[in-house]
Amino acid sequence: MRNLTDKLARERILTRDEFKKLLISDDDYLHEKARNEREKIYGNKIYLRGLIEFTNYCKNNCLYCGLRHANTQAKRYRLTKGQILECCAAGYDAGIRTFVLQGGEDAFYTDEVLTDVIRAIKNNYSDCAITLSVGERGYDSLKLLRAAGADRYLLRHETADTRHYAALHPPEMSLAARQKCLRDLKELGFQTGCGFMVGSPGQTLANIADDLFFIKELDPEMVGAGPFIPHSNTPFAEEKAGDLKLVLNILAILRLMKPSLLLPATTALATISNRGYEQGVNAGANVIMQNISPVSVREKYRIYNNKIGACENLTQRMQNVGCEFVVSRGDYTSV
Ligand code: SAH
Repeated sequence: MRNLTDKLARERILTRDEFKKLLISDDDYLHEKARNEREKIYGNKIYLRGLIEFTNYCKNNCLYCGLRHANTQAKRYRLTKGQILECCAAGYDAGIRTFVLQGGEDAFYTDEVLTDVIRAIKNNYSDCAITLSVGERGYDSLKLLRAAGADRYLLRHETADTRHYAALHPPEMSLAARQKCLRDLKELGFQTGCGFMVGSPGQTLANIADDLFFIKELDPEMVGAGPFIPHSNTPFAEEKAGDLKLVLNILAILRLMKPSLLLPATTALATISNRGYEQGVNAGANVIMQNISPVSVREKYRIYNNKIGACENLTQRMQNVGCEFVVSRGDYTSV
């Protein structure tokens, strides 16, 4: 597999068959090479993001997600602007300089409401970046959010295969709409993140290769890739979680495809593995998201089962793998 790793590092792309082989390979060389590429650009610095889960209301019915509208067991909540600003204050004191506002697709947060929140955060914390992760919105809406000060936007494409997309989503959702939104985000100058779950029901290695080709073409600044984890109140309750090794290989492959990528070791990865953050970083990740939502709502934002809460000793854990957190917006660095 060394030759495939070397080829990927050299050409930043492989053929479908080569990707399929490398995805299931078992060789530390892939991870070592990914770490080296990250170090060349970002050194041993890991960027910390503060995740604020500000609403769990959602109009959608994604089959995998615990926030889905049809999950009547979920206890719904929304945070006020004041509560969101309190999260920012605590996060800022803890050294966080990027706030990630994530939520379901909640019509309560109109452009007017959301731009007001964005402006308030930017007024109070002019040295901080704002990342939005609020699902699909139209071009004009995204434009207003960008003008209000949002810097980045996470919108996983979930799968680049139309049939697989249809197996994970209700008929009213489409891959085309999702991809359109991603292209709008790029055009509007957001640092844009796409991504997908690893081991989602029905996913094949060929699907993952297609995800990698889509990522190559979109050329995002960030990619989120973590394991699928079943949620008990969804149609996928009985499905099994994504494979740790496969997740780590995907992170390493993404790092080699685009060395400057902002690439998180996800909460889902840390949920399926005690050492998930360390393993992710060792495979080339350079971002960790810390939950800074009010403790009172954390249990309610359950997109999958057993989601871990705030982690202690993260600083020490990063030091153990030769890395350190920096107090920085941690913007994308082009090379
Ligand atoms: N409503 C926003 C945020 C969704 S939650 C949006 O549509 O972008 C963020 C991500 O969590 C999703 O994009 C999905 O990839 C992931 N996710 C949802 N359910 C999951 C599950 N059961 N296991 C693992 N990841 C999941």
